[in-house]
Amino acid sequence: MATIRFKALESSMSRTPRIVEAPSKKISEYYGMNVFDKNVMAEYMSKDIYAQVMQTIEDGKTVDRKITNSVASAMKAWAMEREVTHYTHWFQPLTGTTAEKHDAFFEITKDNKVIERFDGGQLAQQEPDASSLPNGGIRNTFEARGYTAWDPSSPAFIIGNTLCIPTIYISYTGEALDYKTPLLKALSCVDKAAVDVCQYFDKNVKKVSATLGWEQEYFLVDKALFTARPDLVLTGRTVFGHIPAKGQELDDHYFGSIPERAHAFMVELEIECMKLGIPLKTRHNEVAPNQYEFAPIFEEANLAVDHNQLLMDMMEKIARKHNFRVLLHEKPFANVNGSGKHNNWSLSTNTGVNLLSPGKNPKSNLQFLTFLINTIKAVHDNERLLRSSMATAGNEHRLGANEAPPAIISVFIGQELTKMLDELVSKVKDGKSLTAEEKTELKLNIGKIPEILLDNTDRNRTSPFAFTGNKFEFRAIGSSANCSSAMIVINSIVAKQLKDFKADVDQLIKEGVKKDEAIFRILKKYTISSKNIRFEGNGYGDEWIAEAEKRGLSHLRTTPAAIAEMGSKQTLALYDGLKVMSERETLARQEIAYELYTNLIRIEARVIGDLAKSHILPTALRYQNQLIDNVQGLKNIFSATEFKDSTGVQLVMIKGISKYVKNVQEVTEKMIVERKRINKLEDPKQKANEYADVVKPMFDVIRYSVDKLELMVDDEIWPLPKYRELLFNH
Ligand code: ADP
Ligand code: MG
Repeated sequence: MATIRFKALESSMSRTPRIVEAPSKKISEYYGMNVFDKNVMAEYMSKDIYAQVMQTIEDGKTVDRKITNSVASAMKAWAMEREVTHYTHWFQPLTGTTAEKHDAFFEITKDNKVIERFDGGQLAQQEPDASSLPNGGIRNTFEARGYTAWDPSSPAFIIGNTLCIPTIYISYTGEALDYKTPLLKALSCVDKAAVDVCQYFDKNVKKVSATLGWEQEYFLVDKALFTARPDLVLTGRTVFGHIPAKGQELDDHYFGSIPERAHAFMVELEIECMKLGIPLKTRHNEVAPNQYEFAPIFEEANLAVDHNQLLMDMMEKIARKHNFRVLLHEKPFANVNGSGKHNNWSLSTNTGVNLLSPGKNPKSNLQFLTFLINTIKAVHDNERLLRSSMATAGNEHRLGANEAPPAIISVFIGQELTKMLDELVSKVKDGKSLTAEEKTELKLNIGKIPEILLDNTDRNRTSPFAFTGNKFEFRAIGSSANCSSAMIVINSIVAKQLKDFKADVDQLIKEGVKKDEAIFRILKKYTISSKNIRFEGNGYGDEWIAEAEKRGLSHLRTTPAAIAEMGSKQTLALYDGLKVMSERETLARQEIAYELYTNLIRIEARVIGDLAKSHILPTALRYQNQLIDNVQGLKNIFSATEFKDSTGVQLVMIKGISKYVKNVQEVTEKMIVERKRINKLEDPKQKANEYADVVKPMFDVIRYSVDKLELMVDDEIWPLPKYRELLFNH
């Protein structure tokens, strides 16, 4: 390793804490200590107010002003006992990260007295001057105000000495400017639609919540080396870097013992997360060197989303304390596994039933099949929209790259359930009632589902949307994503599907068909019409691409192609129909997605250009000059024959460097010209597409030559930390 890089690394490693103390040995003694949760509320509020707040949360309604004042004063009392001085509304704008603006509790009264103040108004609403957050044209400059409003369903929490209040973020005109607003609406839709369907099976079901358990993958790199890589600093990924002699081929990192330094980071992060009530349960090494994963116990989806956003934020903060930087980018290193964020999703009732878990008797299993088949049908009918929910510049590197699910959406349910669905299709007759025996047999078989699932060991890791025994696992989502983008889609499409199902079944019942029979018939119809989305084979294989095309499934390879679906007629009708988002809100979101993509690729293009010109080319030329000096020196001391014999290698190297320098120079210039042309385009869609189709392919061409130069130039003067240093040093 070059001396200068080695020194930087050594110093950051020697200053890194290795031992982290928890406030107590038992997690149960500090879990949730920084959260204004139900227990705290019960303690700090009167019985009456507490009951009203709980009811409001349960019903998903807005909170009465009178109650808000009481909650605010309870929050303030609790927070001030914990030395909190400031509060902030914590929200999730469409940048993908979280935003906050802190205000102090204090106020000066008319008679010049300083007091601590925090009332219902401040809790309920804030007006951050956030006019530079993305709005897709919704917030015109003449009315640039945006509001944040308290989300009582996600508890407030303390970080440092700030009380953070989860909020939605909307424009002055009431349109959503964040992830949370449409998420809450989608969750409420799926709640209502699922409760209605559950009535066929159990009248006690009054509420259905979507559940989410995410699995967060990430890389850790040393802070000193990170800082020496402008591409990592500015884009979150390495735009150059030759693959090291040893990559991940030995599979020796996966589930291996966690290196001491990384372990200390994880311990501290877990302690801080536990205090915030984030139920982090699992940590392990991932496939690539220096790649890891955290997974919590699943929670209600809105809370799980907030907890994931909070986790990503905490990861960044705590990594710095350990002289690490955390990489949440989907593909920080070429030729090394990328990072995803599996979203495990299910529906759960107030009666404690997981609707995607087979039950104990034929009746509850028919309910299970109903939710299973409706989910498959929803995915089938909306596969393009689902694809768009994971379309980002970073994730584009992963999808379809033989390490992550393809850019084609399909559903895996396993052999046994496939057999079950086949049986349903063959046994149930259209327009003709089942005989008593047929019905008994079918019910008997349905009753056997828990047994078959128990030994259903097939776990297809290549499917983007896999049923894993008691939940669906959506695997195509990128590691840096806000889970809401997927959760809004999945809960909306399932809500719509369940509504359609109810209407279809009710229609048959009206025509005189018995309830069970009607359910069977509709399920059969859906199983047939959604069959194409089911795929049990290898999702990474080329045969699947051909097969999917035959089946008429979409294969949207680029991010802009997928973003187009965000504004399709079908999408607009879906969200408008469910009142999750108006057409204007949906289209604004699409525009923001195009702009974000363009901006990110543009930044990458600039970084590539700058690094090539100011780091790579000067270094290559410097080394080439050394070689030329060497050759000239040899000429002075050697005879003509000796000279010829001893300079072959140098001349090959000099020529090689010239070739690659020329390539880098030419393509970089060409890229700059194209960028300038594209930047003048007005239409965000066209711009994004041209960045994807014209500019981005040049990245690989430039990189190829730069990576060749990396292998040729003296390591001592190479200006960027190399892959082996970034990936194998703790
Ligand atoms: P893996 O996918 O790595 O094999 P598991 O299947 O055990 O791991 O679980 C992965 C995640 O699925 C965990 O975060 C867990 O909390 C979550 N999970 C389990 N059950 C549910 C459920 N009913 N709803 C949502 N998420 C769930
Ligand atoms: Mg998983």
